Amino acid sequence: MPRIPADELLVAGVWRRGRGAPFRAVDPADGSVLTEVHAATAEDVDEAARAAAEAAADPAWRDLLPHRRARLLHRIADLVERDAEELAALQTADTGKALAETRALAASAAGTFRYTAAALETMEDALTPSRGPYVTLSVHEPIGVVGAINPWNSPIASDAQKTAPALAGGNAVLLKPAEWTSLVSLAFGRLVHQALTEAELPTALFSVLPGSGRVVGDAIVKHPLVGRIGFTGGTATGRTIARHAADKLIPASLELGGKSPTIVREDADLEQALAGVLFGIFSSSGQSCIAGSRLFVHRSRYEEFLGALVERVRKLRVGPGTDPDTQVAPLVHHKHRDTVAAYVDLARSEGGRVLCGGAAPGGAAHADGAYYLPTVIDGLPNSARTCQEEIFGPVLVALPYEDEDDLVAQANASDYGLACGIWTRDARAAWRIARRIEAGTVWINTYKQFSISTPFGGMKDSGLGTEKGRDLIRAYQRQKSVYWGT
Ligand code: NAD
Repeated sequence: MPRIPADELLVAGVWRRGRGAPFRAVDPADGSVLTEVHAATAEDVDEAARAAAEAAADPAWRDLLPHRRARLLHRIADLVERDAEELAALQTADTGKALAETRALAASAAGTFRYTAAALETMEDALTPSRGPYVTLSVHEPIGVVGAINPWNSPIASDAQKTAPALAGGNAVLLKPAEWTSLVSLAFGRLVHQALTEAELPTALFSVLPGSGRVVGDAIVKHPLVGRIGFTGGTATGRTIARHAADKLIPASLELGGKSPTIVREDADLEQALAGVLFGIFSSSGQSCIAGSRLFVHRSRYEEFLGALVERVRKLRVGPGTDPDTQVAPLVHHKHRDTVAAYVDLARSEGGRVLCGGAAPGGAAHADGAYYLPTVIDGLPNSARTCQEEIFGPVLVALPYEDEDDLVAQANASDYGLACGIWTRDARAAWRIARRIEAGTVWINTYKQFSISTPFGGMKDSGLGTEKGRDLIRAYQRQKSVYWGT
C-alpha cells in the first residue's frame, strides 16, 4: 500500500486542512476508502490567490534569472524521479490504472519538467529590426497568478504539463485536481513545495486546492487576481470556464473531450491494425480523451476485421492495476462504471449489437471493484448517440465505410476533433486522409504516441489552444514591446 498523504492541502505555502467538508478518496479496485480529504473552499482559494500574487511579485522570484528558474524545474524533476515508484503506486490506488501506466505517467511528468527547463534556458527576448529612428525590444513578462484545473484520468502528467510552463514563465500556480483523484496531486505538491523551500523561494508560489469544481474551480476561474486558466476536462465545463474567462478578458486554454475515429483501410497490415485499435481504445480502460472510440473499417474487410478483433477483445485480462498481467484495469469510480454501463444499454436500445463485453465481469475477484468488460458494438448509424457522445470507457463502436469520401464524411460528422488513427500501407492515401480529417492529432500506423516537443490540442468541441512544445512557456507570459528613441 503506498503512503497516503495526510489530510492536508497546500494553501498559500502552508499545509493544513481545507475549510470545506471532507470527501473520500476510494480505491476503485475494491471500493476501499483510502483516506478522507477536507476540501478547499472559495475562502481558501482567495487566501491562496492573494498569497500567490504577493509571491509572484516578490523580487526573489520576479527577478530570478531564467537559468535559476530552470534549476528549480530540474529539482522538481529530480524529486518526481526519486519518488516515481511511490507516486505510481498512489496513482494506481487512487485511479485504478495499471501500474505500468502510472509509472509511465510519473516518468512523463519528470520529463515535462526537464524539457521545459531546457527550453527555458534557450529562450531569449529579442531586439527586433528597427523601421524608424528607434530601437525596439520585445520582452516577455509573467502573467502573475495562473489557475490549473485538471481532470481525473492522468493527474500527475496533467499537473506537470500545466505547472512546468507556468513556473518557467515566472508565475505562481493554483492547482485544482479532480474530486476523484486528489491524492497524487497532493503528493506532487509536496515535491514542488520541497523544491521551492530548498531554493529559498516563496512557497506560496504553488497551492494545491482539491474540492468540487463548482466551488473551488469556479472560485479560481473568477478570482480577480487569476490572469490565465489552463483547463483540461469535459467540453461542457470548458464552455463555462471560457465564458467566465471572457468576462474577465483573460486567456484560457481548453483541452476537452473527444470521440476519435480510428480508420482501417482495405490495404492495412491487419496484425498491426488489430494491435493498434485494441490499444487505442482499451488502454487506460478507454478513459482517455484521445481514445480511438469510433472504428471505421473498409466494407471489404469489415467482417474479417471485426471477427478477429472480437476474438482478441474476449481474451483481454481484466483485473486490478497492481497485477502486472492486467490489460484492462477498473474504471476510476463506481459511479463512472454505471455511466459507461448506461451508455451500453442506450446502444442496445438504439438497435446496436453488443459483440462482446456489455457487462461488468462476474466472479468474486471483481465483485467490489469498478470493473467493466471491454465492449465492441456494431450495427448503429453514425448519428446514434453512442457513436457521437464521449463515453470515456472501454466501449468501441464499429462502422463500415464505402470509399474515401464516405469515410471522411463519416469521420468528420462529429462535434469533436481531437485525434484520429489511420491504418494503411498506402502512404499517399494516409497523407490525403490525414489532411482531410478534422482533428488536432493524426497518427498513421501508430496510436497514442506522444512527444513532449509536439504541440497537442483539439479542434471543434475538443478545445482551444495547445499544450506541450517549447512555445507553451510563452503562453504563460505577456508580451511587451519597448521602443527606445535614438
Ligand atoms: P470535468 O469537466 O467534469 O472536470 C474537470 C475539472 O474541472 C475537475 O477538476 C472539476 O472539478 C473541474 N470543474 C468542474 N466544473 C467546474 C466549473 N464550473 N468551474 C471550474 N472548474 C470546474 O471532466 P472530468 O470528468 O474530470 O474529466 C473527463 C473529461 O476530460 C473528458 O471529457 C476527457 O475527454 C477530458 N480530457 C481531455 C484531455 C485533453 O487533453 N483534451 C485530456 C484528459 C481528459
